[in-house]
Amino acid sequence: MKSFSAKSDLQTYLNPLRKKKKKIGFVPTMGALHKGHLSLVKRALYKTDVCVVSIYVNPTQFNDFKDLESYPRTVDSDVLKLRQISDNIVVYVPTNEDIYGKDFSLSDFDFMGLDKIMEGANRPGHFKGVANVVERLINAVQPKFTFFGEKDYQQLSIIQHLNQKHRWRTTIVPCPTEREYNGLALSSRNQKLSETSREKSGVIYEILKQVKLKFSTNSMENLKLYVKKKISMHKDFIELEYFEIADELTLTPAKKNQKKLKYRAFIAAKVEGVRLIDNIQLN
Ligand code: AMP
Repeated sequence: MKSFSAKSDLQTYLNPLRKKKKKIGFVPTMGALHKGHLSLVKRALYKTDVCVVSIYVNPTQFNDFKDLESYPRTVDSDVLKLRQISDNIVVYVPTNEDIYGKDFSLSDFDFMGLDKIMEGANRPGHFKGVANVVERLINAVQPKFTFFGEKDYQQLSIIQHLNQKHRWRTTIVPCPTEREYNGLALSSRNQKLSETSREKSGVIYEILKQVKLKFSTNSMENLKLYVKKKISMHKDFIELEYFEIADELTLTPAKKNQKKLKYRAFIAAKVEGVRLIDNIQLN
């Protein structure tokens, strides 16, 4: 398995493959790999000839310095996990300078309002950082297909929008959310939780599933009240940051259920100071 930390070396390796018409797939990650990430890698290997996995904790997408500092970094064991899957994986572990040059100067993007709600509203500057790193990574790898998880659904929507608008010349492939046995969406941040809280946090997905069941017979307002009430019943360990129901395509918050539209419910909550997010398709 090949591993590179410089974009120029990565490209020297990939260019001849591209000339031989090998299809390149790309899975951008921040490492601390779990089964969710690996499901994207497996999907990429199925659909392409070579899968590039980047491992880079992108400082510009963190609005909270403590969160950046405490983000798990486990590159050696990540590489081991990838090696166990296939030899057709290329690992790219860039330095800050390889991505941003010396000055970290960021481009501005028009997110068409997709950044004004939910994660965008609660994490100022987050999506600007995400867009900057994804654009730079895609430029470096030039993949035919790039794989993103529905776990970060708003991020996926924003990337799809930017890919069309800025012609990054890749196809974005959405991949379903992988979960722990209790339903908690897998996340690198889960390892920061105590065992008890990790266990109890399964309630987040339980609540989302209830919302899905109730969706066709309840108003948006009732559903929001229901979630607030349910979370407050567990206030000894969990705090709600937001719950929203939005149009799946435009992410416009829904006021009432219009039969022709597809909706998704989105939630962010804090457990032991760790932000957990999840979402579910409703209809
Ligand atoms: P991250 O390392 O958190 O930036 O995630 C890298 C990619 O893996 C993103 O496209 C995420 O949406 C995706 N991902 C993270 N967790 C999961 C999960 N539980 N199931 C599926 N994809 C995931």
